Amino acid sequence: MNKKQELLSSLPSVDEVLKSDFGKKLLKDFPRRYVLSAVREVIESRRKEILDGAAPDVSLEGLAADIATKSGKLSSFSLRPVINATGIVIHTNLGRSVLSEDVMENVRRTATCYSNLEYDLNEGKRGKRHSHIKGLLREITGAEDGFAVNNNAAAVFLSLSALAKDREAVVSRGELVEIGGSFRVPDVMAQSGALLKEVGTTNKTHLHDYEDALGEATALILKVHKSNYQIIGFTEEVPLETLAALGHGRGVPVMCDLGSGCLIDLGPYGIHSEPTVREVLRSGADIVTFSGDKLLGGPQAGLIVGKKEFVERIQRHPLARAVRIDKLTLAALEATLMAYADEDRAIEKIPTIRMLLEDPGKIRERAKKIARLVKTGAKDADVEVIEDSSQAGGGSLPEVRLPTYAVSIKPARLPVNQFEERLRKGDPAVVARIKGEALIVDARTVSNREIAPLAGSIKAALR
Ligand SMILES: *Cc1c(COP(=O)(O)O)cnc(C)c1O
Repeated sequence: MNKKQELLSSLPSVDEVLKSDFGKKLLKDFPRRYVLSAVREVIESRRKEILDGAAPDVSLEGLAADIATKSGKLSSFSLRPVINATGIVIHTNLGRSVLSEDVMENVRRTATCYSNLEYDLNEGKRGKRHSHIKGLLREITGAEDGFAVNNNAAAVFLSLSALAKDREAVVSRGELVEIGGSFRVPDVMAQSGALLKEVGTTNKTHLHDYEDALGEATALILKVHKSNYQIIGFTEEVPLETLAALGHGRGVPVMCDLGSGCLIDLGPYGIHSEPTVREVLRSGADIVTFSGDKLLGGPQAGLIVGKKEFVERIQRHPLARAVRIDKLTLAALEATLMAYADEDRAIEKIPTIRMLLEDPGKIRERAKKIARLVKTGAKDADVEVIEDSSQAGGGSLPEVRLPTYAVSIKPARLPVNQFEERLRKGDPAVVARIKGEALIVDARTVSNREIAPLAGSIKAALR
């Protein structure tokens, strides 16, 4: 027997591996199908190496490490944590708002057992899913009524279907926006059955444009937040108060899609922002829709608040069932809204708000810590803490630049794009941004407990 044949015949069989102590342990740790694939793949790759003339270690011990690694990889989750070093707080691709431990505790508490989701414990009969947050929404926004659906796209779609199907919804041409992820106002309106009545021009829409458009067929005046788009220069739009007065004079409800929707006035914290949901309602909007996971800082959801008459009509629409909120989300949303019961609590407890309003001095401390950890051990890079600016993201506060601190890392032996790729594929995965020759790691969106793992990933990527 020649050397090749000898090696081939001493390769363990799949069965031998699985029956060994090592194999038994793997089967305890990982699903059988993945262990099986891993064993087969590793044996097959050894066989190829031998046929190519190599002489690998073909003992069980020699195969064990590769099989274990492969089993782990095959059975790892696809959806996994990522360190967001972009400084973009509401990063849609990275999951938008981060939920606090308190909020998750409420999800765990109510989802790992039965709950009174749709059961009225006082009356001993069927209750309403929407009853759990109605009071909170009323308190926080001042609305007469409110409820939540799957997301804000659904909130807009459902509201339009319920209030304006086969009738006209009047919208300014300056607000026919695309929000990303294929949410386009005209398309959503078409799907809802509302007939789009465009008024004004891209840059200017006057009150008389709306006045002229109102008629028998009008069901609704719609105002849409422009989110990640700005019209500057020679512009004009009609303030909500004026639109509301017009609508109410003619018996036409006014709906506002706020997109992000802000529940606390960020002005006192130095962020020149937009009106809060409460202010928008006070200005006369009859229905307001906004997201649960943008500035609100909660789970993915769409909130619909406003006058009872309209909220009830929307709630009764047959599509409401198709876009209803699930119990995990509802538990997360109730806990998030509860934090808004007082403003200081919201700022402290809701990660999205905390990150947006954080004192730059504190961000600088984290940036310094990251830089210090990276410098120890990694001699192959130029590392410094720099001043930079971060964004809210998610189409929220598009014009706001938040002063921040970041770690700039220029790898010496590696092109920066390769460094960025390694970090992205690392463990934990890190997403950061390239600026010239350097990778910019914004400390705003990095939490304290992520500092050490982040530095570890960076050092591994520099090696
Ligand atoms: C983000 C946004 C939406 C969609 O909200 P989702 O919660 O992502 O479904 C709708 N309208 C506006 C103006 C937005 O900014």
